[in-house]
Amino acid sequence: MLNSAQQHPYFRKEILLTTKHNKTPLIAPAFHNQLEIKVVEHFADTDVLGTFSGEIERTLPAGQSAIAKAKLGLQETGRTLGMASEGTIGADAGIGFLNSDVEILALVDLEKGIEILERYRSFDITAAKSIASPGQNLEEFFRLADFPNHRLIVRPSKGVSTKVLKGLATADAVFEAVNICSTESDDALAIVESDLRAMHSPSRQKNIAQAASLLAARVLSQCPDCKSPGWGKVDVEKGLNCSDCDTPSEFAVKRDIYGCVSCPHREPGEQLAKFASPAQCVICNP
Ligand SMILES: [Zn+2]
Ligand SMILES: [Zn+2]
Repeated sequence: MLNSAQQHPYFRKEILLTTKHNKTPLIAPAFHNQLEIKVVEHFADTDVLGTFSGEIERTLPAGQSAIAKAKLGLQETGRTLGMASEGTIGADAGIGFLNSDVEILALVDLEKGIEILERYRSFDITAAKSIASPGQNLEEFFRLADFPNHRLIVRPSKGVSTKVLKGLATADAVFEAVNICSTESDDALAIVESDLRAMHSPSRQKNIAQAASLLAARVLSQCPDCKSPGWGKVDVEKGLNCSDCDTPSEFAVKRDIYGCVSCPHREPGEQLAKFASPAQCVICNP
């Protein structure tokens, strides 16, 4: 008898991963474990869609950018099933004083006409930045930036120069880069910062692997109605009464809503709470 994985439309299929930065070892295991899917890497210069270090600004929202990258690879290879990822690292959108890494992984199936996305948000990301002058002691910064475990980028601090030295792995290379970049900078200083490209950032690699696990699980999950892959949480239902004073709170999450990426089918999840906490109540916590 076939088990449920063997009946899944993607069982033992190949998925093209379009990437510039060798992300296959981070993403492939989750898909192999779930459905014996083989992830095939396709190198594409995805920099046209915006670069990580900011030389070319990303014009699309992260999710759309991941989908566009996946489609670019499919176009170039004539395949129909592909993936790509997009990371956003910086001051967190919700908690501004902390850095976060939001990794989005998108799957595009041109045959079925579906797109499946998952995102993983982590505060465990090493992202450090400093300004240095030639000959400056960088020991403290190296410790903060977990260098050389995480590699570094150096560029001029001010002016028109577009020089960027990336993937620096030794202290000598960093000092040399500071010398070069400071002479090209209007204020004779250089910016030294984490190289956040996936292959140079172990903390980011972990987050990409987490996003891959989430997407693999979602791809595995099929719509109860049309059997399309990609069934999962699409929304939440809000609205509970305060446990202390019974006032309705419009912010308290009552349950998750699950949905399909292919058909309009939706189902409410189990109720997560009976009451809103007084902390969410406009009367108890004005
Ligand atoms: Zn209350
Ligand atoms: Zn469906």
